[in-house]
Amino acid sequence: MSIISTKYLLQDAQAKGYAIPAFNIHNAETIQAILEVCQEMRSPVILAGTPGTYKHIAIEEIYALCDAYSASYHMPVALHLDHHESLDDIRRKVNIGVRSAMIDGSHLPFDENVRLVKSVVDFCHSQDCSVEAELGRLGGMEDDMNVDEESTFLTSPQDAQRFIELTGVDSLAVAIGTAHGLYTKPPKLDFQRLAAIRNVVDIPLVLHGASDVPDEFVRRAIELGICKVNVATELKIAFAAAVRKWFDENPDGNDPRYYMRVGMDAMKDVVRSKVTVCGSADRLEK
Ligand SMILES: [Zn+2]
Repeated sequence: MSIISTKYLLQDAQAKGYAIPAFNIHNAETIQAILEVCQEMRSPVILAGTPGTYKHIAIEEIYALCDAYSASYHMPVALHLDHHESLDDIRRKVNIGVRSAMIDGSHLPFDENVRLVKSVVDFCHSQDCSVEAELGRLGGMEDDMNVDEESTFLTSPQDAQRFIELTGVDSLAVAIGTAHGLYTKPPKLDFQRLAAIRNVVDIPLVLHGASDVPDEFVRRAIELGICKVNVATELKIAFAAAVRKWFDENPDGNDPRYYMRVGMDAMKDVVRSKVTVCGSADRLEK
């Protein structure tokens, strides 16, 4: 077992009409919780870390952890660089062994986004590392990213087609109405736009900001070509709420083996429900 590229996972998902869940990780316990469920449900999975995650635990350490867990859970692990913004940062992490990267140039004008993504694709493909890019701009908040509503815009199908031709990127995150973090009002997803994008591009499409989006919307998006569904905030909320409750009930408690386990169990319920929505259970090769 090993750390793998997401390319083949996403190709299988695309061919068979399901999605690979990508969960954000923060420490050993969050990795364990996710892998416990995915092993039990035989679901392929992507473990994603933002630049902030790799400040919290060094890439060398998180890579070693994932590599060790891949062996003990007897399943391949795709460790992913979520929302990375520079070639240098990605190069350093790929040289350590990561084989899946997102280069987020969505804040840049089209041509600059193309140039940045192309430089990352050229390097990553020489290392068998798959590359995700983003076109359009999602709103909301995640780690150090905070995009206000005026700066958001949805992905244009024609731009997406040109962008993929010019960059050779492996998968594309599209903006169709989701946002990072929690929603203040129910999200409206532009399924027509997604179908129009799918019509003119043939690489796997990625849905960011899937926390707190109704299951039926996520399912519909998968039917229309989404092959990777990113979930971060909902996992953190479940974990934190369970730990908070545990301390309310055990005000003198202090043993991380107890309160972390309670948090992990709550997080596992969310992971289980997302695997079900993605249709990724029983897809791991025997
Ligand atoms: Zn995202």
